[in-house]
Amino acid sequence: MERIACVSIDLDALRHYAAIHGLTASSLPPEAEEAVATKAPPRLGELLRAVGAPGTFFAVGDDLLPGPGDPAGREAPVPPRPGARALREATQAGHEIGNHTLHHRYDLVRLPAKRLAAEVEGGARAIAEAVGVRPTGFRAPGYTLTAPLLRAVVEAGHSYDSSSFPAAPYYLAKAGVMGAMRLSGRRSGAILDRPRVLAAPPLPYRPSVDEPYARGELPLVELPIATEPVTRLPFIGTTAVSLPIPALRALYLAVRRRPFLNLELHGVDLLDQSDGAGEPLARRQRDLRLPAAAKLERLRALLGWLADDYRLTTLADAARAFAGRL
Ligand SMILES: [Zn+2]
Repeated sequence: MERIACVSIDLDALRHYAAIHGLTASSLPPEAEEAVATKAPPRLGELLRAVGAPGTFFAVGDDLLPGPGDPAGREAPVPPRPGARALREATQAGHEIGNHTLHHRYDLVRLPAKRLAAEVEGGARAIAEAVGVRPTGFRAPGYTLTAPLLRAVVEAGHSYDSSSFPAAPYYLAKAGVMGAMRLSGRRSGAILDRPRVLAAPPLPYRPSVDEPYARGELPLVELPIATEPVTRLPFIGTTAVSLPIPALRALYLAVRRRPFLNLELHGVDLLDQSDGAGEPLARRQRDLRLPAAAKLERLRALLGWLADDYRLTTLADAARAFAGRL
């Protein structure tokens, strides 16, 4: 199997983090609105340029749609959103834009089928209009997949999905403690249970029509997000920017045993409080307090490792490469 690695970023706006922490959007400074959309793409673009590789940027459609325009009804042209401009530049630099739904609703999978499909199709359409290219890849908000969601993703014409993350949060807390014990040479007597997502294949596969986390015949490739092979610790942006470098290197050497590494970042992994997050959010979303310059240095080192060990390409390209073999 050819060794392929992909770097992708979910461009979740800061207001989604505020919502998670129970803060209202009005508690954010005005510059928070476009901070991720305008700052994260060029910063990641610069890191990827240094290793000569393209990446995948998952955008939320609603962040790209022009505003309501002139309320007085005059025919003033509505300027494009700054995030749309950043993504067009990313496209011109060879990066891929993926679909992260229309509104980034964390309760997406609980919506009735019609509204769920509208979220998927609406995201694809908004991106096509803003960027000029219709996305072929999809990532669900909060990583949660259900059979109806994945069917809607297929129906909207996507050729791959990259949402499966076999490291469920409740499992994680436990695995984190056990992983730390292992690293310090102690053994844990605890036994981890195996919720369905943890049984999902860690390497690319074709999902089943009825169960996204099982192999099947769906005409789409699932590209799982990277986890450590034994502990299933997540190997994502948060890991990269917050672990001490020797621990990150050790974890990477374990993850590197796999022939496919799908590194998922978030916009906040490349930003800090001074980028418009404001004090109330940075108090709760603690990784915003790490200086962006330090986080970028860390990611620069990690991307260098990836470029040494893998062919670095977009998720769409990886899906094409794997599709013929599944
Ligand atoms: Zn997201």
